[in-house]
Amino acid sequence: MKQILKYLLFVFMTVSAGCAQKPAEETDTGSLRIVTTLFPYNDWVAAITENTGTPVQTRFLLNSGSDLHSFQPSASDIAAISECDLFIYTGGESDEWTEDALRQSSNENRIVINLMDVLKDHLKEEEMKEGMQEEDHEHEEETEFDEHVWLSLRNAQLCCEAIEEALSSLLSDESSLFKENLENYVRQLQQLDASYAETVQNGSVHTLLFADRFPFRYMIEDYGLDYYAAFAGCSAEAEASFETIRFLAEKCDELQLKNILVLESSDRRLADTIINTAVQKDINILELNSLQSMTQKDADQGITYLQIMENNLEILKKAVN
Ligand SMILES: [Zn+2]
Repeated sequence: MKQILKYLLFVFMTVSAGCAQKPAEETDTGSLRIVTTLFPYNDWVAAITENTGTPVQTRFLLNSGSDLHSFQPSASDIAAISECDLFIYTGGESDEWTEDALRQSSNENRIVINLMDVLKDHLKEEEMKEGMQEEDHEHEEETEFDEHVWLSLRNAQLCCEAIEEALSSLLSDESSLFKENLENYVRQLQQLDASYAETVQNGSVHTLLFADRFPFRYMIEDYGLDYYAAFAGCSAEAEASFETIRFLAEKCDELQLKNILVLESSDRRLADTIINTAVQKDINILELNSLQSMTQKDADQGITYLQIMENNLEILKKAVN
């Protein structure tokens, strides 16, 4: 209720400001402005606001394919956060900049969703697994939670529910449409989730090997898969030591793996080295998309979160069979 009052007050203030000073901006007062950090969140918003009567402007800030783990916002990013009605971000280690951005751009009408807060009972800690490259810098004492939460279709459902709730409180007139869209979208997420589960259940391989960083912990643990990887999470470490390479090559032989995995941005050198070090050489390199380097162009072409997760399922099918 408080949010609705806030929203009405906001509309009233914006409309009166528009009438008094800049009538040209009046066209903008009825639209909902939503800013997210990452492509998946932008896409979820688009799915939930589909066919709404109110214009919805969405924008994701990390839209140039740059590394999300070293992102620095521009002045226009901060302005967008300041002026939006709804801001959605992950809330992990790489999002520390959002604290400053939100402080610098206080806006009491804005709703802010920290998705790691939404998922607090489902978060997983970053894991140093046997064979992984240790990070060079000193270890911080506190444990960090893995921030690649969007790679679980089950997390996605919970995030979408929270997004729908915020949208409905911002635009109560559209609430029943948002709920209907959410229901349809969650059904699609659940169907895909069931296909993943079935694929893994029918597969003969239960351990995946990543010759790369490993942002897929949420995804593979949803389906009870095990893994080995060269680097934890999205470690800043770029070079694998000979010990790491030898360990992973031995795992390829021991598990008789026919496929190893890399991320979308891999130059595959590490994967090639591991294959060359293994006794058996007949190993394919497969690429899973972690949705970390999506661009505005991808979004403009109509590529969706579900499409990429469907493609990832096809890759997973090869990897487990
Ligand atoms: Zn990452």
